[in-house]
Amino acid sequence: MMRLACLVAILGVGGVVHADGLKAGAFAMDVTPTRFPISVNGNMADVQAKGANDPLHARCLVLDDGKTKLAIVVVDSCMLPRELVEDAKAQANKLTGIPADHVLISATHTHSAPTVTGVFQSEPDVDYVKYLPTKIAEGIKTAHDRRVAARVGFGRVADEAQVFNRRWKREHVLIPADPFGNATDKVQMNPGNEAKGLIEPAGPVDPDVSLLSVRTTDGKPLCLLANYSLHYVGGNPPVSADYFGAFADRVKQLVAPDTKDFVGIMSNGTSGDVNNINFGAPAVKYGPGERIKIVADHVAKKVAEVYPKIEHNSDVALAVAVKNLELAVRKPTEKDLERALKILVENKDKKVLSDRAAIYARESVLLATYPNKVPVKIQAMRIGDIGIVAIPCEVFTEIGLEIKKTSPLKNTFTIELANGYNGYLPTPAQHALGGYETWRARSSYLEVEASVKITAAVKELLAAVSR
Ligand SMILES: [Zn+2]
Repeated sequence: MMRLACLVAILGVGGVVHADGLKAGAFAMDVTPTRFPISVNGNMADVQAKGANDPLHARCLVLDDGKTKLAIVVVDSCMLPRELVEDAKAQANKLTGIPADHVLISATHTHSAPTVTGVFQSEPDVDYVKYLPTKIAEGIKTAHDRRVAARVGFGRVADEAQVFNRRWKREHVLIPADPFGNATDKVQMNPGNEAKGLIEPAGPVDPDVSLLSVRTTDGKPLCLLANYSLHYVGGNPPVSADYFGAFADRVKQLVAPDTKDFVGIMSNGTSGDVNNINFGAPAVKYGPGERIKIVADHVAKKVAEVYPKIEHNSDVALAVAVKNLELAVRKPTEKDLERALKILVENKDKKVLSDRAAIYARESVLLATYPNKVPVKIQAMRIGDIGIVAIPCEVFTEIGLEIKKTSPLKNTFTIELANGYNGYLPTPAQHALGGYETWRARSSYLEVEASVKITAAVKELLAAVSR
């Protein structure tokens, strides 16, 4: 679209209206719950938060090239179900006219935000499930109302110090049996620092921080959307936006200290198997919240190094494409269910399940009620030579690296946990290695070939938007 517009402009061909320059608006909507205690998910057992350690936000960016409008929203939440996201998009559409398919809404994956998706022993907070989409839509509207003439640019910087693959190959006899009673796992997640028999991490990391920078045409910083493939950090008492919120604050201090309305955003890249702990080295002790601050500061300083070098351009075309896939669910067999029910009977007096076999037995029973196939929405956005891919899963890093490498757009990154929640996305080879992320549960249930089908859809969508 951009190439055609430029070509038309160069040739002086009449009849085609050139987009009247880019407009952008950004806003960070506070989405901190107002009622406590509230359920917080992200652990095998539920956590009840008694207050907010730091505020939660839905950080919104709206872009408008005169012909196409799009919105990107990053929410301080662990995972957002498709129904909630669709609700927010429908409400935002009424308020702004932006088509639902042109809105990308993702969760940061903070593990200290209110439960809006049922996982393990946390159940959605009904009031917050109603509250959140309305606030997201209001946030998009405010960003939309704030549109001013703008320019966008892309930057990239590596921060190798904060990302480690958390799945380790280990001497087989030292790997515990999986929760289904099988001793078939060849890798172990979070095996412990310098644990005996560690061989090597089972996958790569992606150290790149991708940056979509938005400035007003007179050079004022308006928004900086960062993308880094780090699961979360942890260590703050709930409710907390984890390092995602701390990064947004720190990057503002560093790159736009005098701009009141500047919005910093950290989106989650492809970090299904990558966290902040180097299990190959001794454990490091941190005080409460200390690690979050250290990581946020380190990444923000790296970003601030390259930020002044980003070149901004207002002659960019926007495009969005969406594909709905139907993927099979890895449902428990009759035999699996029989075993699960037996374990649950043995544990029937326990209010909170602590035994992994029992927790996964409960998951098997719940997963048995799922349909055989589920819809999975894949989205690609183009902002000039920048490609943004959205996948509703906890995507393994190697998948994100392949998307970056094969994209027809020069600068591409993936935002995971976007537009819904369909659990972990390992590759078939990683499924064969086993480990936590592959264990059948509501947190990991797509067919083994899911990543192959999703990556193919991503390539199709990137080709479509880059035409
Ligand atoms: Zn996770």
